[in-house]
Amino acid sequence: MKRLSAEELLALNKYILDPEDKSIVLNKEICRGCSAKPCTFACPAGLYTVKDGEIGFDHAGCLECGTCRVICLHPEAINWQYPRGGFGISYRYG
Ligand code: SF4
Ligand code: SF4
Repeated sequence: MKRLSAEELLALNKYILDPEDKSIVLNKEICRGCSAKPCTFACPAGLYTVKDGEIGFDHAGCLECGTCRVICLHPEAINWQYPRGGFGISYRYG
C-alpha cells in the first residue's frame, strides 16, 4: 500500500468556502506590533502571510486545527471561531 505524503492527504479533503466567512478575524493593528509573527510559520496550511510588514490571512483551506489561536503572541489579536454550519473543511482521510 502506497504511503501518502501530508500534501496528498490534505488534497483529499473537501473544503466549502463561506463567502461571508468571519471565523478568523485579525486585529491587524495588534499584528503590526507583533515582531515574531509565529502564525506565519506555525499554520500547517500556510494561510498567514506577510507582505510589506502587513499580516495577511486567507480562510480558504483552513484545517480548523486551532494552532494559530494557541500560538498567537497577542491572543486578543485573533477572534477565532469555527466556520458556520455547512462550511469549512470535511476530512476524508482521518
Ligand atoms: S502571532 Fe498573533 S498577533 Fe502575531 S501576527 Fe500572528 S495573529 Fe497577529
Ligand atoms: S486553525 Fe490551523 S489551519 Fe486554520 S488558520 Fe489557524 S493554524 Fe492555520
